[in-house]
Amino acid sequence: MESTRRRSQHSTNGKGSEAVEKSAQWGRAWEVDWFSLIGVVSLLCFAPFIVFYFVMACDQYECSISQPVLELYQGKATLPSIWARAPSFTWTAAKIYAVWVSFQVFLYICIPDVGHKFIPGYVGGVQDGARTPAGLINKYEINGLQCWIITHALWFANANYLQWFSPTIIFDNWIPLMWCANILGYAVSTFAFLKAYLFPTNAEDCKFTGNIFYNYMMGIEFNPRIGKWFDFKLFFNGRPGIVAWTLINLSYMAKQQELYGQVTNSMILVNVLQGIYVLDFFWNEAWYLKTIDICHDHFGWYLGWGDCVWLPYLYTLQGLYLVYHPVQLSDTHALAVLLLGLIGYYIFRSTNHQKDLFRRTEGACSIWGRRPTHIECLYLSADGRSHRSKLLTSGFWGVARHFNYTGDLMGSLAYCAACGFSHILPYFYIVYMTILLVHRCIRDEHRCSSKYGKDWKRYTDAVRYRLIPGVF
Ligand code: NDP
Repeated sequence: MESTRRRSQHSTNGKGSEAVEKSAQWGRAWEVDWFSLIGVVSLLCFAPFIVFYFVMACDQYECSISQPVLELYQGKATLPSIWARAPSFTWTAAKIYAVWVSFQVFLYICIPDVGHKFIPGYVGGVQDGARTPAGLINKYEINGLQCWIITHALWFANANYLQWFSPTIIFDNWIPLMWCANILGYAVSTFAFLKAYLFPTNAEDCKFTGNIFYNYMMGIEFNPRIGKWFDFKLFFNGRPGIVAWTLINLSYMAKQQELYGQVTNSMILVNVLQGIYVLDFFWNEAWYLKTIDICHDHFGWYLGWGDCVWLPYLYTLQGLYLVYHPVQLSDTHALAVLLLGLIGYYIFRSTNHQKDLFRRTEGACSIWGRRPTHIECLYLSADGRSHRSKLLTSGFWGVARHFNYTGDLMGSLAYCAACGFSHILPYFYIVYMTILLVHRCIRDEHRCSSKYGKDWKRYTDAVRYRLIPGVF
């Protein structure tokens, strides 16, 4: 009860102790309901097989996801025979992967950002994260753009001049690399899990639910670190995962060139649209510190394994598909995909930018040519201190409560539509993103409702829809 008393004593907003206690409970759940537990255990059991299934379907069945099931049904194949046909772990892949991850660790830790000193408008170097539920503000070294540029400059130098390795190296070792990524994903999640018990970075921000599966999956530590700067969340999400995304696509492009003597317009579209998304991520890495991944999610298997395996393998399915099916789109189709992708990106970026600008200037800015409207909110951190916040209700944030997700979904659909309409596999991404972002809406709104209480209700009354006005 000591912590309760502390919270009540420090309360400055005049709420009763019950309300204070309740509203200080924002952040990841302390208790696990059966529904969440079933979801967590299912993901732990099935997610690795989902990744394997899609990648294997491309490798063995030319990207048909129904053919393996049909063969199983007809008795032409068995689960062990499908498994045995997939390439296994190789030491060559292990060496490539070890060099890759070590190089990214080196760039992240050893090369402080210089880009912000001479690139106008770019925010890099040491930046503050958002306030954690325990009331702490962590510092981060933002050097992702620089790491991305160095990595890609070396990639192009190798492809065009040095020729130390083939630019198809990633494609050529794709499944063996997947085993290595799994080893790292499980190792880092297990390490983070044990570290939370043995030597947590910020003990005040740890959350134990009493359920081992939930703790392992959703994480215990909020911002695990080694030393002052090696931040697990920032590194694993951004570096092996998102830096790799564009390199993987380039490797697919090189493979198309090698196999067919040309690169299709669909492959170029996928490379360009996803390249814009990745570059946007690094250009805005300081903004990323204020997104849910960094400022609300704890670091567990969901982020650790997800960043090492799920992201690089499933976010790049379109390019992989196009290696097996080199689709050449008509000009009209290509233009429609480009427009959908660019409009989606514009909405995604502008919506995120409006919130960032609004929060940074505390509302002293102009959105769509006007002074923004907002709702004043109060919330408590776990140390019982009261803080103020503002929820924007104009610009895209007046259209829907998560219009940034709507833009993201439009862009995601564009990547898929670039692959034509003859197979389902490349459309996995839009299905997955829809589930992810709808679930995220619900998860985020649940958290915001606990954090802001009746102020959140005033906000949802003012902005009625989540993603599509009049629909959802
Ligand atoms: P948001 O950037 O929308 O952040 C949500 C948080 O913003 C809320 O928790 C709340 O935090 C604050 N907030 C909510 N409404 C308002 C408002 N009206 N005014 C001001 N602040 C508000 O969500 P995400 O972090 O999930 O996403 C960021 C971007 O990343 C999105 O564009 C999303 O599409 C993208 N994304 C992409 C993924 C991918 O895999 N490709 C995965 C996840 C996200 P507070 O407590 O500060 O009030």
